Amino acid sequence: MSDIIKVLVPDIGDFDNIEVIEILVSAGDSVQAEQTLITLESDKASMDIPAPHPGRIESVLVTLGDRVSEGAHIADLFSQAAAADTQDTAPPLAKSTGAPTPGANDDADGKDNNEDFLDIGGSATNTDAQSCDSPLQAAVGEHTEVHCQLLVLGAGPGGYTAAFRAADLGLDTILVERYNSLGGVCLNVGCIPSKALLHTAQVIDEARSMAPHGVSFGEPDIDLAKLVGWKNSVVGQLTKGLSGLARQRKVKVLHGTGSFDSPNTLRIERGHSDSGGTTMVHFEKAIIAAGSQAVQIGAFPNSDPRLMDSTDALLLEEIPNRMLVIGGGIIGLEMAGVYQALGTHITVVELLDGLIPGADRDLVRPLQKHIEKRYENIFLSTRVTGIEPTDAGLKVSFEGDKAPQSDVFDKVLVAVGRAPNGGKIGADRAGVHVDERGFINVDRQQRTNVEHIFAIGDIVGQPMLAHKATHEAKVAAEVAAGEQASFDALSIPSVAYTDPELAWCGLTETEAKAQGIDYRKGVFPWAASGRALGNARSEGMTKVLFDKQSGRVLGAGIVGTHAGDLISEAVLALEMGADADDLSLTIHPHPTLSETINFAAEVAQGTITDLYIPKKRS
Ligand SMILES: Cc1cc2nc3c(=O)[nH]c(=O)nc-3n(C[C@H](O)[C@H](O)[C@H](O)COP(=O)(O)OP(=O)(O)OC[C@H]3O[C@@H](n4cnc5c(N)ncnc54)[C@H](O)[C@@H]3O)c2cc1C
Repeated sequence: MSDIIKVLVPDIGDFDNIEVIEILVSAGDSVQAEQTLITLESDKASMDIPAPHPGRIESVLVTLGDRVSEGAHIADLFSQAAAADTQDTAPPLAKSTGAPTPGANDDADGKDNNEDFLDIGGSATNTDAQSCDSPLQAAVGEHTEVHCQLLVLGAGPGGYTAAFRAADLGLDTILVERYNSLGGVCLNVGCIPSKALLHTAQVIDEARSMAPHGVSFGEPDIDLAKLVGWKNSVVGQLTKGLSGLARQRKVKVLHGTGSFDSPNTLRIERGHSDSGGTTMVHFEKAIIAAGSQAVQIGAFPNSDPRLMDSTDALLLEEIPNRMLVIGGGIIGLEMAGVYQALGTHITVVELLDGLIPGADRDLVRPLQKHIEKRYENIFLSTRVTGIEPTDAGLKVSFEGDKAPQSDVFDKVLVAVGRAPNGGKIGADRAGVHVDERGFINVDRQQRTNVEHIFAIGDIVGQPMLAHKATHEAKVAAEVAAGEQASFDALSIPSVAYTDPELAWCGLTETEAKAQGIDYRKGVFPWAASGRALGNARSEGMTKVLFDKQSGRVLGAGIVGTHAGDLISEAVLALEMGADADDLSLTIHPHPTLSETINFAAEVAQGTITDLYIPKKRS
């Protein structure tokens, strides 16, 4: 078999006759598998065409401005790796199989196989490296050395934000990521794919909920492959966008698993798909943004494919008949909502005595009431004592008052939290202290105990949320660039994108009581909101806590549709030091759900007219 293969334009969806706007290689260049060769751009999107295998470019057959379609022969590639494979190869692009692509370097224990991000759109970012003189052009197995002012380890929301901000501030920056796709957990297997699927669930539920109001639709006809393809395309669009942003800023992206060798060097083991070998990065400063991974319970049969973590659940390989969700926190309940809307019978089991620990109970109640009607069971204060694989399904044993001794499920989702990756990056060789749980302690400037090494995101502690990571990232990058900055947010909002949504910020009422804080509260039930009634979703409630002396906002909680969007007003009020007058006197548009914040403040002020609240006798 010849070692010269033709590189063809792959399936690029509905696009045809698209302009070549960038040619990133020329004859004689060494390329890695998935390294971008050329970029195409239509009026709607730009697409990178990657190398299907590692090798050497023999010839490039297009020039800038050419127009190409699927199947066009764009280059010849000399590749020994390809010889064992196939000859005329079109790499996958913008088309998802739904199957995970192994990361460049999986952990030896195999655990992180669960965390492999989807390789969507052939979006390997070696382009970024290439355009920035990357060592990833190294030959097979080669050892290379590079220098930079700032190294960022991990390309999740924390890492890419830090790298981009640092580059904007003039630092020569290298971003290291073990997987082919940028964006970390959030973009690949977290916030974004889960919200795309939750949107689907919401549309199905809303259509069903109109039946009592006189509009009936048929049962949904679900094309799972298409749905998964759409979800993956959303992810692909964003992760590819990040590659473009990195390229525009000249951030060098190196793929491989990084671990510190000393306080100023990081060793990157490149995976087989990147031709293997090592790269040693010598850096002046570093930002650790290596994130977290799902917690596994050792006693469970973790290799059984019927036992899933959130990453597996997001693959949506099938719609099981009965599914158990272990963990009644945000991630567990979001995934439960998706599968329930698609037709799965859901049971949720939670060790604590309530769902969504951390939120006020009065806010959780409407959510619990709503899902109790839809789910087979919700077992609180219940422990799963064992899971046994059987032909009929996973036999799960419970210990709890209301739960049966055991029950059999087609699938079990374990959503019991996430553990930081602090213990997996050789931090000790850099002198960075990692605690026994894997977290790295930082100060308000995101500095670790080592002056020139910073850490951000999930790896530095709770709450493990993308918007916390991105804000910490900017602080770290700015301090690394010599600017004055510190993380001084008064509140990091939390949102459960369940149905109904639940969102809160600042002080919760439970915390206020526990801390003996003198507060005043305004609660507005959505049953009195014209907009909520018109939406046929009046189960919600908006609560705002104010300091009794100053009247300033201390915290807020909202349960109801779109609570996640509505909470931002309360976050801003809190950050601005707004008081009850500010919220009640600010004119909110009518009829909106946002009015409920206005009304909650009026309740606290005693000026509400949309409710009648009898005056307390003095
Ligand atoms: C199902 C799910 C839904 C979620 N939904 C939301 C939501 O709606 N809103 C929200 O705010 N948060 C949500 N989160 C949490 C959010 O995803 C995380 O808080 C966020 O991704 C943390 O960002 P990070 O940059 O700290 O780390 P990560 O996103 O974990 O990124 C870390 C990156 O570092 C890389 N890495 C790790 N070790 C190495 C190494 N040794 N070498 C090279 N690379 C390495 C990893 O591959 C990864 O790409 C969700 C999480 C899950 C699992």
